[in-house]
Amino acid sequence: MTRSAPLSVFRTLDDVDVAGKRVLVRADLNVPMDDSRISDTTRIERIIVNIQEISEKKGKVILLSHLGRPKNGPDAKNSLKPVAVEIERQLGRYVAFASNCIGGVAKSAVEAMQDGDILLLENTRFHAAETKNDPAFVEALAELGDIYVNDAFSTAHRAHASTEGLAHKLPAYAGRSMQHELEMLTSMLADPKRPLAAIVGGAKVSTKFELLGNLMRRVEYLFVGGGMANTFLEANGKQIGKSLCEKKFADIARQLIADAEGANCKLVLPIDAVVATRFEANARTKVVDIDAIGEEEMILDIGPRTISQVVGLLASARTLVWNGPVGAFEVPPFHTGTLSIAKVAAQLTKVGALDTIAGGGDTIAALNQAGATQDFTYVSTAGGAFLEWLEGKRLPGVEALRLSTTAKS
Ligand code: AMP
Repeated sequence: MTRSAPLSVFRTLDDVDVAGKRVLVRADLNVPMDDSRISDTTRIERIIVNIQEISEKKGKVILLSHLGRPKNGPDAKNSLKPVAVEIERQLGRYVAFASNCIGGVAKSAVEAMQDGDILLLENTRFHAAETKNDPAFVEALAELGDIYVNDAFSTAHRAHASTEGLAHKLPAYAGRSMQHELEMLTSMLADPKRPLAAIVGGAKVSTKFELLGNLMRRVEYLFVGGGMANTFLEANGKQIGKSLCEKKFADIARQLIADAEGANCKLVLPIDAVVATRFEANARTKVVDIDAIGEEEMILDIGPRTISQVVGLLASARTLVWNGPVGAFEVPPFHTGTLSIAKVAAQLTKVGALDTIAGGGDTIAALNQAGATQDFTYVSTAGGAFLEWLEGKRLPGVEALRLSTTAKS
Protein backbone atom coordinates (compact mmCIF):
# COMPACT_ATOMS: atom_id res chain seq x y z
CA MET A 1 0.00 0.00 0.00
CA THR A 2 1.59 3.25 -1.07
CA ARG A 3 -1.05 5.90 -0.36
CA SER A 4 0.20 8.28 2.27
CA ALA A 5 -0.54 11.81 3.40
CA PRO A 6 2.11 14.37 4.21
CA LEU A 7 2.66 14.34 7.95
CA SER A 8 3.82 17.91 8.22
CA VAL A 9 1.69 18.54 11.30
CA PHE A 10 3.59 15.94 13.31
CA ARG A 11 7.26 15.72 14.05
CA THR A 12 8.86 12.47 13.01
CA LEU A 13 12.31 10.91 13.15
CA ASP A 14 13.06 12.82 9.92
CA ASP A 15 13.07 16.04 11.93
CA VAL A 16 15.77 15.17 14.44
CA ASP A 17 19.39 14.10 14.60
CA VAL A 18 19.43 11.38 17.23
CA ALA A 19 23.19 10.78 17.19
CA GLY A 20 24.61 10.78 20.71
CA LYS A 21 21.19 11.54 22.20
CA ARG A 22 19.36 9.60 24.89
CA VAL A 23 16.12 8.73 23.09
CA LEU A 24 13.19 7.75 25.31
CA VAL A 25 11.03 5.57 23.08
CA ARG A 26 7.47 4.78 24.20
CA ALA A 27 6.61 1.45 22.62
CA ASP A 28 3.59 -0.80 23.09
CA LEU A 29 5.16 -3.94 24.51
CA ASN A 30 1.95 -5.01 26.21
CA VAL A 31 2.24 -8.49 24.72
CA PRO A 32 0.04 -11.41 25.73
CA MET A 33 1.87 -13.56 28.29
CA ASP A 34 1.34 -17.18 29.13
CA ASP A 35 3.33 -18.02 32.29
CA SER A 36 6.23 -15.66 31.49
CA ARG A 37 6.16 -16.87 27.89
CA ILE A 38 5.16 -14.38 25.18
CA SER A 39 2.32 -15.98 23.26
CA ASP A 40 2.16 -13.42 20.43
CA THR A 41 5.15 -11.31 19.38
CA THR A 42 3.39 -9.12 16.78
CA ARG A 43 3.75 -5.95 18.84
CA ILE A 44 7.48 -6.49 19.24
CA GLU A 45 7.92 -7.11 15.52
CA ARG A 46 6.20 -3.80 14.74
CA ILE A 47 8.69 -1.66 16.66
CA ILE A 48 11.91 -3.36 15.55
CA VAL A 49 12.39 -1.06 12.55
CA ASN A 50 12.14 1.99 14.76
CA ILE A 51 14.67 0.65 17.27
CA GLN A 52 17.07 -0.30 14.50
CA GLU A 53 16.88 3.09 12.85
CA ILE A 54 17.64 5.03 16.02
CA SER A 55 20.41 2.63 16.98
CA GLU A 56 22.00 2.75 13.52
CA LYS A 57 21.91 6.54 13.68
CA LYS A 58 23.84 6.24 16.95
CA GLY A 59 21.07 7.27 19.30
CA LYS A 60 20.79 5.55 22.69
CA VAL A 61 17.49 3.66 22.57
CA ILE A 62 15.74 3.67 25.95
CA LEU A 63 12.48 1.74 25.68
CA LEU A 64 9.46 2.43 27.87
CA SER A 65 6.24 0.46 27.98
CA HIS A 66 3.50 -0.85 30.20
CA LEU A 67 2.52 -4.51 30.48
CA GLY A 68 -0.81 -5.63 31.86
CA ARG A 69 -2.64 -3.78 34.61
CA PRO A 70 -0.56 -4.21 37.78
CA LYS A 71 -2.44 -2.67 40.69
CA ASN A 72 -0.04 -2.89 43.62
CA GLY A 73 3.42 -2.03 42.40
CA PRO A 74 5.91 -4.49 40.91
CA ASP A 75 4.95 -8.12 40.36
CA ALA A 76 6.83 -10.81 38.48
CA LYS A 77 3.83 -11.65 36.29
CA ASN A 78 3.90 -8.22 34.66
CA SER A 79 7.66 -7.81 34.35
CA LEU A 80 8.99 -6.76 30.96
CA LYS A 81 12.16 -8.83 31.44
CA PRO A 82 11.04 -11.64 29.06
CA VAL A 83 10.28 -8.95 26.49
CA ALA A 84 13.89 -7.71 26.63
CA VAL A 85 15.00 -11.26 25.86
CA GLU A 86 12.62 -11.45 22.88
CA ILE A 87 13.74 -8.08 21.48
CA GLU A 88 17.31 -9.29 21.84
CA ARG A 89 16.42 -12.46 19.93
CA GLN A 90 14.74 -10.54 17.14
CA LEU A 91 17.54 -8.02 16.76
CA GLY A 92 20.31 -10.55 17.22
CA ARG A 93 22.13 -8.25 19.63
CA TYR A 94 22.36 -7.38 23.31
CA VAL A 95 19.48 -5.50 24.93
CA ALA A 96 20.03 -4.28 28.49
CA PHE A 97 17.24 -4.34 31.07
CA ALA A 98 16.73 -2.14 34.13
CA SER A 99 14.46 -3.34 36.92
CA ASN A 100 12.91 0.09 37.48
CA CYS A 101 11.91 2.77 34.98
CA ILE A 102 12.95 5.67 37.23
CA GLY A 103 15.44 6.37 40.02
CA GLY A 104 19.00 5.20 40.59
CA VAL A 105 18.65 1.84 38.86
CA ALA A 106 17.36 3.42 35.66
CA LYS A 107 19.89 6.28 35.80
CA SER A 108 22.88 3.94 36.17
CA ALA A 109 21.62 1.76 33.31
CA VAL A 110 21.31 4.83 31.06
CA GLU A 111 24.74 6.14 32.11
CA ALA A 112 26.29 2.81 31.17
CA MET A 113 25.00 3.07 27.58
CA GLN A 114 27.18 3.71 24.53
CA ASP A 115 25.77 5.39 21.43
CA GLY A 116 23.59 2.89 19.53
CA ASP A 117 22.93 0.73 22.60
CA ILE A 118 19.46 -0.49 23.54
CA LEU A 119 17.94 -0.57 27.01
CA LEU A 120 14.47 -1.64 28.12
CA LEU A 121 13.16 -0.15 31.35
CA GLU A 122 10.79 -2.06 33.61
CA ASN A 123 6.97 -1.70 33.37
CA THR A 124 5.93 1.95 33.76
CA ARG A 125 2.67 0.84 35.43
CA PHE A 126 4.59 -0.54 38.40
CA HIS A 127 4.20 3.10 39.47
CA ALA A 128 0.62 4.24 40.04
CA ALA A 129 1.82 7.71 39.01
CA GLU A 130 2.06 6.54 35.38
CA THR A 131 -1.67 6.33 34.73
CA LYS A 132 -2.26 9.51 36.77
CA ASN A 133 0.13 11.39 34.48
CA ASP A 134 1.76 12.65 37.67
CA PRO A 135 4.12 15.58 36.97
CA ALA A 136 6.82 14.34 39.39
CA PHE A 137 6.83 10.95 37.67
CA VAL A 138 6.96 12.60 34.24
CA GLU A 139 9.92 14.61 35.51
CA ALA A 140 11.67 11.46 36.78
CA LEU A 141 11.25 9.81 33.37
CA ALA A 142 12.29 12.94 31.50
CA GLU A 143 15.60 13.05 33.40
CA LEU A 144 16.60 9.88 31.59
CA GLY A 145 16.30 11.27 28.07
CA ASP A 146 17.14 14.15 25.75
CA ILE A 147 14.27 13.53 23.35
CA TYR A 148 11.02 11.54 23.36
CA VAL A 149 9.79 9.33 20.55
CA ASN A 150 6.27 7.94 20.77
CA ASP A 151 5.92 4.77 18.74
CA ALA A 152 2.79 3.45 20.43
CA PHE A 153 -0.35 4.55 18.57
CA SER A 154 -2.30 1.83 20.37
CA THR A 155 -1.86 3.59 23.73
CA ALA A 156 -2.25 7.13 22.38
CA HIS A 157 -5.89 7.42 23.52
CA ARG A 158 -4.63 7.49 27.11
CA ALA A 159 -3.09 10.59 28.67
CA HIS A 160 -0.54 8.79 30.83
CA ALA A 161 2.92 9.97 31.85
CA SER A 162 4.79 7.91 29.28
CA THR A 163 2.19 8.33 26.51
CA GLU A 164 1.41 12.03 26.84
CA GLY A 165 3.09 13.81 29.77
CA LEU A 166 6.60 13.24 28.43
CA ALA A 167 5.73 14.85 25.10
CA HIS A 168 5.29 18.17 26.90
CA LYS A 169 8.56 17.84 28.76
CA LEU A 170 10.98 16.81 26.00
CA PRO A 171 11.15 17.49 22.27
CA ALA A 172 8.69 14.91 20.95
CA TYR A 173 8.53 12.93 17.72
CA ALA A 174 6.42 10.18 16.19
CA GLY A 175 8.28 6.89 15.81
CA ARG A 176 8.08 4.99 12.53
CA SER A 177 5.20 2.69 13.42
CA MET A 178 3.20 5.58 14.93
CA GLN A 179 3.98 7.57 11.78
CA HIS A 180 2.82 4.73 9.54
CA GLU A 181 -0.43 4.33 11.47
CA LEU A 182 -1.13 8.08 11.34
CA GLU A 183 -0.35 8.27 7.63
CA MET A 184 -2.63 5.36 6.80
CA LEU A 185 -5.53 6.48 8.97
CA THR A 186 -5.24 10.09 7.91
CA SER A 187 -5.02 9.43 4.21
CA MET A 188 -7.73 6.79 4.14
CA LEU A 189 -10.22 8.60 6.34
CA ALA A 190 -9.57 12.25 5.59
CA ASP A 191 -9.51 11.87 1.84
CA PRO A 192 -10.90 8.44 1.00
CA LYS A 193 -11.88 7.21 -2.42
CA ARG A 194 -15.67 7.41 -2.56
CA PRO A 195 -18.20 6.00 -2.10
CA LEU A 196 -17.04 5.16 1.40
CA ALA A 197 -18.75 2.26 3.17
CA ALA A 198 -18.52 1.24 6.81
CA ILE A 199 -19.35 -2.06 8.43
CA VAL A 200 -19.89 -1.94 12.15
CA GLY A 201 -20.65 -5.07 14.12
CA GLY A 202 -20.08 -6.49 17.56
CA ALA A 203 -22.16 -7.39 20.53
CA LYS A 204 -23.49 -4.16 21.98
CA VAL A 205 -24.66 -1.00 20.33
CA SER A 206 -24.18 0.96 23.57
CA THR A 207 -20.38 0.76 23.21
CA LYS A 208 -20.49 2.10 19.66
CA PHE A 209 -23.04 4.94 19.60
CA GLU A 210 -20.34 7.54 19.11
CA LEU A 211 -18.69 5.49 16.43
CA LEU A 212 -21.95 5.10 14.50
CA GLY A 213 -22.84 8.77 14.93
CA ASN A 214 -19.48 9.92 13.62
CA LEU A 215 -19.26 7.43 10.78
CA MET A 216 -22.69 8.24 9.40
CA ARG A 217 -21.59 11.83 8.86
CA ARG A 218 -18.66 10.63 6.77
CA VAL A 219 -19.77 7.56 4.87
CA GLU A 220 -22.24 6.93 2.07
CA TYR A 221 -23.16 3.43 3.28
CA LEU A 222 -23.27 2.07 6.79
CA PHE A 223 -24.04 -1.59 7.39
CA VAL A 224 -24.81 -2.48 10.99
CA GLY A 225 -24.55 -6.19 11.80
CA GLY A 226 -23.88 -8.47 14.75
CA GLY A 227 -25.68 -8.37 18.06
CA MET A 228 -25.91 -4.58 17.91
CA ALA A 229 -28.16 -4.69 14.84
CA ASN A 230 -30.81 -6.39 16.99
CA THR A 231 -31.38 -3.21 18.98
CA PHE A 232 -32.05 -1.34 15.72
CA LEU A 233 -34.33 -4.12 14.45
CA GLU A 234 -36.30 -4.14 17.69
CA ALA A 235 -36.53 -0.35 17.65
CA ASN A 236 -37.95 -0.72 14.12
CA GLY A 237 -40.72 -2.96 15.47
CA LYS A 238 -39.28 -6.37 14.52
CA GLN A 239 -39.74 -9.43 16.75
CA ILE A 240 -36.28 -10.69 17.56
CA GLY A 241 -37.10 -13.57 19.93
CA LYS A 242 -34.35 -14.26 22.47
CA SER A 243 -31.63 -12.36 20.58
CA LEU A 244 -29.15 -10.16 22.39
CA CYS A 245 -30.75 -6.71 22.56
CA GLU A 246 -30.36 -3.49 24.55
CA LYS A 247 -34.01 -2.47 24.64
CA LYS A 248 -33.39 0.58 26.77
CA PHE A 249 -31.42 2.13 23.92
CA ALA A 250 -34.27 1.85 21.42
CA ASP A 251 -34.76 5.63 21.38
CA ILE A 252 -31.10 6.26 20.65
CA ALA A 253 -31.23 3.65 17.90
CA ARG A 254 -34.26 5.40 16.37
CA GLN A 255 -32.44 8.73 16.61
CA LEU A 256 -29.42 7.25 14.84
CA ILE A 257 -31.68 5.97 12.06
CA ALA A 258 -33.10 9.48 11.66
CA ASP A 259 -29.61 11.03 11.80
CA ALA A 260 -28.41 8.72 9.04
CA GLU A 261 -31.24 9.92 6.82
CA GLY A 262 -30.40 13.53 7.60
CA ALA A 263 -26.74 12.88 6.79
CA ASN A 264 -27.56 11.19 3.47
CA CYS A 265 -26.04 7.99 4.71
CA LYS A 266 -27.69 4.77 3.60
CA LEU A 267 -28.06 2.77 6.82
CA VAL A 268 -28.41 -0.91 6.02
CA LEU A 269 -29.65 -3.53 8.49
CA PRO A 270 -29.84 -7.32 8.09
CA ILE A 271 -32.79 -8.63 6.06
CA ASP A 272 -32.35 -12.27 7.07
CA ALA A 273 -30.55 -14.16 9.81
CA VAL A 274 -29.07 -17.44 10.93
CA VAL A 275 -30.92 -18.33 14.11
CA ALA A 276 -30.68 -21.06 16.74
CA THR A 277 -32.37 -21.79 20.04
CA ARG A 278 -29.02 -22.64 21.65
CA PHE A 279 -25.84 -20.61 21.42
CA GLU A 280 -23.27 -23.37 21.07
CA ALA A 281 -20.88 -24.79 18.50
CA ASN A 282 -22.61 -26.72 15.74
CA ALA A 283 -26.04 -25.91 17.12
CA ARG A 284 -29.02 -26.66 14.89
CA THR A 285 -29.61 -23.55 12.84
CA LYS A 286 -32.21 -22.11 10.50
CA VAL A 287 -32.03 -19.29 7.99
CA VAL A 288 -35.03 -17.04 8.38
CA ASP A 289 -36.32 -13.78 7.10
CA ILE A 290 -35.89 -10.92 9.57
CA ASP A 291 -39.68 -10.73 9.87
CA ALA A 292 -39.95 -14.40 10.84
CA ILE A 293 -37.80 -14.83 13.96
CA GLY A 294 -39.40 -17.32 16.37
CA GLU A 295 -40.01 -16.44 20.02
CA GLU A 296 -37.38 -18.92 21.23
CA GLU A 297 -34.81 -18.09 18.54
CA MET A 298 -31.63 -16.04 18.69
CA ILE A 299 -30.09 -14.16 15.79
CA LEU A 300 -26.45 -15.31 15.74
CA ASP A 301 -25.30 -14.43 12.23
CA ILE A 302 -26.46 -12.61 9.15
CA GLY A 303 -28.19 -14.73 6.53
CA PRO A 304 -27.26 -15.33 2.86
CA ARG A 305 -29.50 -12.59 1.49
CA THR A 306 -27.87 -10.09 3.83
CA ILE A 307 -24.42 -11.32 2.80
CA SER A 308 -25.37 -10.67 -0.85
CA GLN A 309 -26.63 -7.24 0.12
CA VAL A 310 -23.30 -6.39 1.82
CA VAL A 311 -21.35 -7.78 -1.14
CA GLY A 312 -23.41 -5.45 -3.34
CA LEU A 313 -22.46 -2.50 -1.12
CA LEU A 314 -18.80 -3.43 -1.30
CA ALA A 315 -18.97 -3.72 -5.07
CA SER A 316 -20.26 -0.17 -5.38
CA ALA A 317 -17.93 1.32 -2.73
CA ARG A 318 -14.29 2.38 -3.25
CA THR A 319 -13.28 2.39 0.42
CA LEU A 320 -14.36 0.21 3.35
CA VAL A 321 -13.88 0.89 7.05
CA TRP A 322 -14.66 -2.12 9.22
CA ASN A 323 -14.96 -2.64 12.96
CA GLY A 324 -16.71 -5.54 14.65
CA PRO A 325 -17.88 -9.00 13.55
CA VAL A 326 -21.36 -9.27 12.00
CA GLY A 327 -22.10 -12.53 13.82
CA ALA A 328 -20.90 -14.60 16.76
CA PHE A 329 -17.92 -15.59 14.61
CA GLU A 330 -15.99 -17.48 17.32
CA VAL A 331 -18.63 -20.20 17.37
CA PRO A 332 -19.17 -22.16 14.15
CA PRO A 333 -21.35 -22.07 12.11
CA PHE A 334 -22.01 -18.43 13.11
CA HIS A 335 -18.74 -17.35 11.50
CA THR A 336 -20.04 -17.64 7.95
CA GLY A 337 -21.31 -14.08 7.49
CA THR A 338 -18.22 -12.36 8.89
CA LEU A 339 -15.76 -14.60 7.04
CA SER A 340 -17.64 -14.36 3.74
CA ILE A 341 -17.59 -10.57 3.87
CA ALA A 342 -13.91 -10.58 4.83
CA LYS A 343 -13.04 -12.78 1.86
CA VAL A 344 -14.98 -10.65 -0.62
CA ALA A 345 -13.46 -7.42 0.75
CA ALA A 346 -9.98 -8.96 0.51
CA GLN A 347 -10.60 -10.06 -3.07
CA LEU A 348 -11.86 -6.62 -4.12
CA THR A 349 -8.80 -5.05 -2.48
CA LYS A 350 -6.49 -7.42 -4.30
CA VAL A 351 -7.84 -6.40 -7.69
CA GLY A 352 -7.60 -2.71 -6.79
CA ALA A 353 -11.35 -2.09 -6.67
CA LEU A 354 -11.53 -1.27 -2.97
CA ASP A 355 -9.34 0.26 -0.25
CA THR A 356 -9.95 -1.59 3.00
CA ILE A 357 -9.14 -0.54 6.51
CA ALA A 358 -10.04 -2.54 9.58
CA GLY A 359 -9.21 -2.63 13.26
CA GLY A 360 -10.16 -3.96 16.67
CA GLY A 361 -9.24 -7.27 18.32
CA ASP A 362 -12.21 -9.35 17.15
CA THR A 363 -12.10 -7.94 13.66
CA ILE A 364 -8.43 -8.85 13.32
CA ALA A 365 -9.12 -12.36 14.65
CA ALA A 366 -11.93 -12.76 12.09
CA LEU A 367 -9.76 -11.46 9.23
CA ASN A 368 -7.01 -13.86 10.24
CA GLN A 369 -9.51 -16.72 10.29
CA ALA A 370 -10.65 -15.76 6.81
CA GLY A 371 -7.04 -15.50 5.57
CA ALA A 372 -7.87 -11.93 4.55
CA THR A 373 -5.47 -9.84 6.65
CA GLN A 374 -2.62 -9.73 4.14
CA ASP A 375 -4.87 -8.47 1.37
CA PHE A 376 -6.49 -5.67 3.35
CA THR A 377 -5.03 -2.25 2.63
CA TYR A 378 -4.48 -1.58 6.30
CA VAL A 379 -5.25 -3.44 9.49
CA SER A 380 -4.74 -1.45 12.65
CA THR A 381 -3.68 -3.45 15.68
CA ALA A 382 -4.69 -0.59 17.96
CA GLY A 383 -8.05 -1.56 19.48
CA GLY A 384 -9.23 1.33 21.69
CA ALA A 385 -7.13 3.98 19.93
CA PHE A 386 -8.38 2.88 16.49
CA LEU A 387 -11.99 3.08 17.70
CA GLU A 388 -11.53 6.52 19.24
CA TRP A 389 -9.88 7.73 16.05
CA LEU A 390 -12.89 6.48 14.07
CA GLU A 391 -15.19 8.16 16.57
CA GLY A 392 -13.50 11.41 15.57
CA LYS A 393 -11.89 11.96 18.96
CA ARG A 394 -8.55 13.64 19.43
CA LEU A 395 -6.08 11.21 20.96
CA PRO A 396 -3.96 12.88 23.66
CA GLY A 397 -0.79 10.97 22.74
CA VAL A 398 -1.14 12.03 19.12
CA GLU A 399 -2.16 15.60 19.85
CA ALA A 400 0.97 16.06 21.95
CA LEU A 401 3.09 15.29 18.88
CA ARG A 402 1.60 18.07 16.82
CA LEU A 403 4.13 20.71 15.82
CA SER A 404 2.18 23.43 17.57
CA THR A 405 2.27 21.64 20.91
CA THR A 406 5.89 20.54 20.81
CA ALA A 407 7.74 23.78 20.53
CA LYS A 408 10.90 22.70 22.34
CA SER A 409 13.89 21.22 20.53
P1 AMP B 1 -17.56 -6.09 20.41
O1 AMP B 1 -16.57 -6.34 21.49
O2 AMP B 1 -18.70 -5.23 20.81
O3 AMP B 1 -16.93 -5.70 19.10
O4 AMP B 1 -18.27 -7.49 20.18
C1 AMP B 1 -17.64 -8.61 19.64
C2 AMP B 1 -18.45 -9.83 20.00
O5 AMP B 1 -19.75 -9.71 19.46
C3 AMP B 1 -17.89 -11.10 19.46
O6 AMP B 1 -17.47 -11.88 20.56
C4 AMP B 1 -19.07 -11.76 18.76
O7 AMP B 1 -19.20 -13.13 19.06
C5 AMP B 1 -20.25 -11.01 19.33
N1 AMP B 1 -21.43 -11.06 18.46
C6 AMP B 1 -21.51 -10.67 17.19
N2 AMP B 1 -22.74 -10.89 16.70
C7 AMP B 1 -23.46 -11.44 17.71
C8 AMP B 1 -24.82 -11.89 17.82
N3 AMP B 1 -25.67 -11.81 16.79
N4 AMP B 1 -25.22 -12.38 19.01
C9 AMP B 1 -24.35 -12.46 20.04
N5 AMP B 1 -23.08 -12.06 19.99
C10 AMP B 1 -22.63 -11.54 18.83
